[in-house]
Amino acid sequence: MTDHPTRPAFDGGPVVVIGAGIVGCSLAFHLSLYGFSDVTVLDAGLVGEGSTSKATGGIRQQFSSEINADLAHEAVDYFAHFDERVGEPFDFRQHGYLFLIATPEQFEQFQRNVVMQRRLGIDVRLLDPDDLAQLVSGVKTADLYAGAYCPSDGSGSPADAVAAFARQARRRGVRILQNTAVTGVDRAADGSVRAVRTKDAVHPASVVVNAAGPWARRVGELVGLDLPVEPHPRQAFGIGPLPQLHADMPLTVDLASGAYLHPEVHGGIVGGNDRDTPAGEDASVRWELVEPLTAALVHRIPWMSDADIRTGWCGLREMTPDDHAIVGPCAVPGWWNLVGFSGHGFMQAPVVGDHVARRLLGHADARDMSALRLSRFAEGETAHEATVF
Ligand SMILES: Cc1cc2nc3c(=O)[nH]c(=O)nc-3n(C[C@H](O)[C@H](O)[C@H](O)COP(=O)(O)OP(=O)(O)OC[C@H]3O[C@@H](n4cnc5c(N)ncnc54)[C@H](O)[C@@H]3O)c2cc1C
Repeated sequence: MTDHPTRPAFDGGPVVVIGAGIVGCSLAFHLSLYGFSDVTVLDAGLVGEGSTSKATGGIRQQFSSEINADLAHEAVDYFAHFDERVGEPFDFRQHGYLFLIATPEQFEQFQRNVVMQRRLGIDVRLLDPDDLAQLVSGVKTADLYAGAYCPSDGSGSPADAVAAFARQARRRGVRILQNTAVTGVDRAADGSVRAVRTKDAVHPASVVVNAAGPWARRVGELVGLDLPVEPHPRQAFGIGPLPQLHADMPLTVDLASGAYLHPEVHGGIVGGNDRDTPAGEDASVRWELVEPLTAALVHRIPWMSDADIRTGWCGLREMTPDDHAIVGPCAVPGWWNLVGFSGHGFMQAPVVGDHVARRLLGHADARDMSALRLSRFAEGETAHEATVF
């Protein structure tokens, strides 16, 4: 199936966005920011209560693919100036990310990554294992090749960001209807979208945007699309404060096990050893993962033996086969997908929403995101994101 770049982006009619998570709300906000407010966002539940409410808020530029690294680089600037850009405060804690590199293959990959990332202007560096204890006290480094450290990476609250986008979009005239599931799409004889149906209403639409997160595949089926987006459960656990754990410590990822330690202002978050969980929509907390997770973290950071697991939650990550988002129009005229963010959707949403809004409105300065086109899968033009955990 090919994308449809030749159709005029937009004829000025109503835009309907399916999904009021961080992605849908960001797009709606940016459309209204650029003066277009004939936008209706429909959500089956409440604003931000999908995957966005489960995200742990990481914002990192250390990706292996250029498009992911560059989007995140722009996102870091966006989050750092969120108050000026959105008009609401946002606490972006730039504590850095530190990847602990445990195999020669990872080392080679990160050496390539760092060259690319530095070319993009990202302040990342490879550190000698002996220097890592300055960042994470007591870290065991005997079996490590290096650490990849980027001090401007960080984290922030997805709840704050989605609420800000939704509030500021509404202030500019965007309608956000909650508890309003989309059940059908009306199309014209040429296949183009004409309206979106819910249980009680028909919403006319010149453009329909699928921003349904982990449920994007089902929403795509409403127009006959088979989107390669699968929900994968992802666990996270909250730990209480520890004397060695402080808010300025980098979010540390042990690539040998996938386990990570994310410092918060009071305590922190741990997780990351469940990447191989099969696709599914069961978002139950798997407490049995706590023991191997803690063991992996203690092996790397011995004082984690005192960690007190206080909470656990699980959400669905919206994974694609190459761990890249699907962004843009497609073969169904008027239908846009902003889906499949593969666990990076919180950090990418502000920038993607901004550029897609500009592209829809015909602004010449919209970023080229054709690397994220849906048709790459049919064309065999995919490149996996290697920095995943
Ligand atoms: C545990 C965990 C940790 C994560 N950590 C990070 C992180 O550190 N950094 C990061 O960038 N990302 C992270 N993510 C990923 C991030 O949560 C997602 O990429 C992001 O929230 C996707 O946003 P979204 O708006 O596309 O989806 P969602 O927030 O899921 O929103 C989609 C919305 O669509 C609605 N919807 C579905 N079907 C319909 C329908 N038929 N009609 C109307 N509405 C519908 C849903 O109700 C939902 O509100 C994490 C995810 C999890 C689960």
